[in-house]
Amino acid sequence: MRCPSCGGLEDRVVDSRAAEDGSTIRRRRQCEHCATRFTTFERIGEVALVVVKRDGRREAYVRDKVRAGLDAACKGRSLEDATLDALLATVEDRLAVRGGEVESAQVGALALEELRHIDGVAAVRFASVYKGFQGPEDFEREIQLLTDPLPDQAT
Ligand SMILES: [Zn+2]
Repeated sequence: MRCPSCGGLEDRVVDSRAAEDGSTIRRRRQCEHCATRFTTFERIGEVALVVVKRDGRREAYVRDKVRAGLDAACKGRSLEDATLDALLATVEDRLAVRGGEVESAQVGALALEELRHIDGVAAVRFASVYKGFQGPEDFEREIQLLTDPLPDQAT
């Protein structure tokens, strides 16, 4: 979790309890750097997602990893943090529907699909990293997808 005050990434949970609706966890956190206290709401089951990588290895889904990729793609695009948070929540909802194990490519494909609706430039940047673009023709194909209403075959 990123501290809203100083941006530090180390914190400790000082309180954690289920919210009234039973589907989210309310966590009170304290930043290890500046001691600011802040509250997060996390979906129960979020950490249960397992990502299967291209080489077959499995690892726990880590929201911050996906977010870091999105942040890099959105650099300088003046998108609100809340916009990207909402995008991630949408992606996680869709992944959860698919069950406990998802392929890493699906995570990227879903994030890209959402990003296309928000910012075309960021979407092409994101695609260039997660799809491993090799040349200009890859960018052309991706830009074509932005203007083409055909559904993305990757999903
Ligand atoms: Zn802090």
